[in-house]
Amino acid sequence: MNPKPTSTGIPGAVASELRPVTALKGVGDALAAKLAKLGVETVQDVLFLLPLRYEDRTQIIPIGSLRAGDRVVVEGEVQLAELVFRKRRQLLVRITDGSGFLTLRFFYFTAQQQAQLTRGVRLRCYGEARRGGLGLEIVHPEYRRADGPDAQRTEDSLTPVYPTTEGVQQGRLRILTALALDDAEQQRVRDWLPSELLRDLQLPSLAEALTYVHRPPPGADLMPLAMGTHPAQRRLAFEELLAHQISLRLLRQQIRTEPAWPLAGNGQLTAPFRQALPFSLTKAQERTFAEASTDIASTSPMLRLVQGDVGSGKTVVAALAALIAIEAGYQVAMMAPTELLAEQHWQNFERWFKPLQIPVALLSGKLTGVARQHTLNAIADGAQVPLVIGTHALFQEGVRFKRLALVIIDEQHRFGVQQRLALREKGMQEGRVPHQLIMTATPIPRTLAMTAYADLDVSVIDELPPGRTPVTTVVLPEARRDAVVARIAAACRQGRQAYWVCPLIEESEELDYQAAEATHAALVVALPALSIGLVHGRLTSKKKEAVMAAFKRGELNLLVATTVIEVGVDVPNASLMVIENSERMGLAQLHQLRGRVGRGAAESTCVLLYRGPLSRLAQERLDVMRSTTDGFKVSERDLELRGPGELLGTRQTGLVQMKVAELIRDADMLPRVQEVAEYLITHHPETLRPLLRRWIGAGERYGQV
Ligand code: ADP
Ligand code: MG
Repeated sequence: MNPKPTSTGIPGAVASELRPVTALKGVGDALAAKLAKLGVETVQDVLFLLPLRYEDRTQIIPIGSLRAGDRVVVEGEVQLAELVFRKRRQLLVRITDGSGFLTLRFFYFTAQQQAQLTRGVRLRCYGEARRGGLGLEIVHPEYRRADGPDAQRTEDSLTPVYPTTEGVQQGRLRILTALALDDAEQQRVRDWLPSELLRDLQLPSLAEALTYVHRPPPGADLMPLAMGTHPAQRRLAFEELLAHQISLRLLRQQIRTEPAWPLAGNGQLTAPFRQALPFSLTKAQERTFAEASTDIASTSPMLRLVQGDVGSGKTVVAALAALIAIEAGYQVAMMAPTELLAEQHWQNFERWFKPLQIPVALLSGKLTGVARQHTLNAIADGAQVPLVIGTHALFQEGVRFKRLALVIIDEQHRFGVQQRLALREKGMQEGRVPHQLIMTATPIPRTLAMTAYADLDVSVIDELPPGRTPVTTVVLPEARRDAVVARIAAACRQGRQAYWVCPLIEESEELDYQAAEATHAALVVALPALSIGLVHGRLTSKKKEAVMAAFKRGELNLLVATTVIEVGVDVPNASLMVIENSERMGLAQLHQLRGRVGRGAAESTCVLLYRGPLSRLAQERLDVMRSTTDGFKVSERDLELRGPGELLGTRQTGLVQMKVAELIRDADMLPRVQEVAEYLITHHPETLRPLLRRWIGAGERYGQV
């Protein structure tokens, strides 16, 4: 590879890309201020302000062939223009091209416009046709007179539509990008990717790619452009992924240079703890714990992600790591994504740590007033509270630790990169950074994990504790509900417990909770011999906790729940789970839910109820659930099955929002992205800053070179 190393640091061409936007003709301070709101400060930023979508204005469409919803260019002669007063004053202009009529409707117009739009004038208009009171109409079309000197000209490329900000019109942005493209051509925008690599990936050069996305040629295929799969877009996506990869790796390097407390355990607590456990650790748990212990014994902070399928026993590993820190005389904070989960962990740790005489504090958002102050004081004192468990409330203002040396984060997929960063900063005490152990049950495929978590080391618990029988999954139509209810009755008669999961409805908490209530009521009638509980997001955490505790103690046979039980809840005696409307849930979510059963020795079943008819995709997805219980396989199939239209959001992968790249759609490029990131960091550090500046911006806190 030959990315043209320079010995003089930033080459001239780059410096010119970083000229302020005011270097472009016609851009004054006022416009520059508005552009700054779009994050556009330099000429280069204009080039990398990428279109959101495209419109086809290369052809004039006969008015007679228009359908509602079409976004089109039409041309016609004004037949009639009238001012009408219907609720609001408005100007209606009827045009025709001989093939049909179209009404242009204006609510806002100047006297000058009104004077211009008179009978006989030819107009070219662009806009979205819709059905109105007078047939098809366009409200506030873009228009210009078509009887002037360049009447015959249409646009000769697809028209890009840019993200806009108040006061900067599309037309202006199109002019600016055209200027920046010309400018880039003259100045030769610097391509940081080695040309051999581009050939290898069959990707165009940066200049070609930018020209193409800003000005797709006539006849360009809209489909790949709309999907983001055109080589020009892939070229840009590659570079963007590269920039993110580099920023995470640099971030990691940077954090690793900060000092941490070295935590070497003496076994005083871990030994009796292990002895008291009713089981011995699996090989995978031992290995993960060994990796974590080695990390925390070092003076540079641990940044370790533990990936382990639901039920693989991550909590015990976390407990052992916590004990090492406590043996060494430090504090540990454990953060869970929900109150429910924090409470469950707290109960677990209380039970485990009581015999060792280690107090465990729960700091939830609900803890207020004197009680909260009391807990806060105890945490600040350190000696009183070696382990604190809570939600993100743990890292809010006002929480001060005495000697925080280890932070454990459970179910990391709920936290994004930004939160990880914030945590690192807040955790910093007396110039020391706490070690971090992050646990996730989201088994994302390896390449994705390496990208989303490029700043972390990864341990995988790839083994379930022995004695577990894999969960059998059955897929049934709604019509078989009665049979399922009978099955619950039978299981509960044998002393087993069951979950009934109601789906999230249209993202509405209100409906969600109503559906759960209705299902609960129906099941109470259908199963009079059972005691049936209900948990949903509306309950106070106290109430939720009480219901969960009753279920755990076996006082409830059946628990009706919304997806709030998705993460982490542990009741080994529960061996049957029914999931309603399973066709509407994501595979990852179904897998998480299913992980609530199969935790004990009893044979467990998960019934996926669906409402037909199923699409082929939905059918295949449910088939995946039926055919495997391996979380990694589930996630790999999930990736294969998802079309580009159904992408996993960046939220879930923990990556910050990107401009052109989509982690899943562009997953095939990730191995090369990693290779190239490594290569550039090692051999061409001079390329890093310009790449980050281009894609991530100067204002970001992370990825500083
Ligand atoms: P997860 O990885 O999903 O967080 P947990 O830590 O909640 O899993 O563990 C699931 C269950 O397995 C718990 O009841 C825990 O006590 C039990 N467990 C953990 N490790 C072992 C082991 N090595 N042998 C037997 N049971 C185990
Ligand atoms: Mg867990």
